[in-house]
Amino acid sequence: MTAQLIDGKAIADQIYEEIQAEVAELKEEHNIIPGLATVLMGQNPASQSYVRSKQRTCTKCGFNSVGEHLPEDASQEEVEALVKRLNEDPAIHGILVQLPLPKHVDEEKILSTISLEKDVDGFHPVNIGRLSMKGREPLAVPCTPAGCIELLVRSGVEIEGLEAVILGRSNIVGLPVSMLLLHRNATITICHSRTQDLAATCRRGDILVAAVGRPEMVKADWVKPGAAVIDVGINRVWVEHPADKEWTCAATGETFIAHRKDESKKGGRRKIGVYCATHDKAYLKEHVPAEAEGCEMISLYRKYKLVGDVDFDEVNEVAGYLTPVPGGVGPMTIAMLMWNTLAAAKRATGLLD
Ligand code: NAP
Repeated sequence: MTAQLIDGKAIADQIYEEIQAEVAELKEEHNIIPGLATVLMGQNPASQSYVRSKQRTCTKCGFNSVGEHLPEDASQEEVEALVKRLNEDPAIHGILVQLPLPKHVDEEKILSTISLEKDVDGFHPVNIGRLSMKGREPLAVPCTPAGCIELLVRSGVEIEGLEAVILGRSNIVGLPVSMLLLHRNATITICHSRTQDLAATCRRGDILVAAVGRPEMVKADWVKPGAAVIDVGINRVWVEHPADKEWTCAATGETFIAHRKDESKKGGRRKIGVYCATHDKAYLKEHVPAEAEGCEMISLYRKYKLVGDVDFDEVNEVAGYLTPVPGGVGPMTIAMLMWNTLAAAKRATGLLD
C-alpha cells in the first residue's frame, strides 16, 4: 500500500475559496478590503519573484496589495520610516518585509518595527513568545508551520495524543511547528544536528515533520509504518542534460558543468556561467571580467529538480500520509499569509479578538 498523498495545492485552493467568500462578506457588510503591503529592497531576482507571487495571490483573494520597493542602498532609517508609515496606514492590515535584507540593514530591528497587529508573518517577538506559552494566543502564526498543521488537519489526521517527531529546530520552521503540535496535544520530540540515532528517533513519530534542508535524507526505515509525513524541505539537486559539458573558468581556473542557453529548454535551470563567443572563453557567472563587456556572450545553464528532505519513492511505501515536493507544504505558505492578513483585517474592524 502506498501513502495517501496530501495535495497542498488542492488544500491551498480550498483555503483561497474560503478567503474569497469572507472577503466578499467583509466588503458587503463592513466596507472593508484587507490590505497587504510588501516591502522589497534591492533587485534580488528570487525576492522579486516571491513578492510578485504574493501580490498576484492578493489580487486573487480580493485584497488590496501595496508594493513598496526600496533601493539596495536605502538606509536603516529609511526602511524603518517606511515600516512606521505602513503601521499608521489604516488601509494596510498586514506588512510583509521580504527577507533577506541587504547586510547593512538590521533585520531583527526592522521586523520588530512592524506593529504586532500587522505582523502577518508571525515572527514578531510577542507573537513568538505567545506561541511558546501555554494558554496564550499569538495574533499570527508563522505561515509555513501553520501550513503544516492545516495539511494534517484537513487530511483528517487527529493530532491529539499522537507522538510527533520534528526533524529540525529552526526559528522559521522546526521550532514553531513543534509548538503548534504541542498546543494540539501531540507529544513532541525535536531532532537536530546533535541528535543521536536520528533514524530510530524519527521512527517513533506517528507524525514526522522533516525541515532539515538535506535532500532526500529521510529514508523508509526512518518512518513508522502508517505515519503522517510532512516534508517541508525544498532542495535543488542538479540533474544531467544531454548537452552538459565541462567548462573551465578563464578567470579562476575552476571547472564547472553546464550547457549553452541555446541547447537548453526552459524549466528548472540555473545560470552558472557565460561563454564569451568573441574570445572563445567561459566564465563562472560571478567572475566575468569587465573587459568582456560588449562581447557576444551566451549564458551557460545547469538543470536542476526540486526534492524534499524525504526520499519520496521509498517513504511512499511505508507512510500513511505524505506530502509531495513540490506541491505539498510550498503552496500552503502563501495561503496562510493570506489567511493571517484576512484575520488582521477582521481584528482591525473589531470582528475578531
Ligand atoms: P535551517 O534553518 O537550515 O535549519 C535546519 C535544521 O535542521 C537545523 O535545526 C539543523 O540542526 C537541522 N539539521 C541540519 N542538518 C542536519 C543533520 N544532518 N541531521 C540532523 N539535523 C540536521 O533550515 P529551515 O529554514 O528550517 O528550512 C528547512 C528546509 O525547509 C529547507 O529545505 C528549506 O528550503 C525548507 N523551507 C520550505 C518552506 C516552504 O514554504 N515549503 C519554508 C521554509 C523553509 P541544528 O539546529 O543543530 O543546526
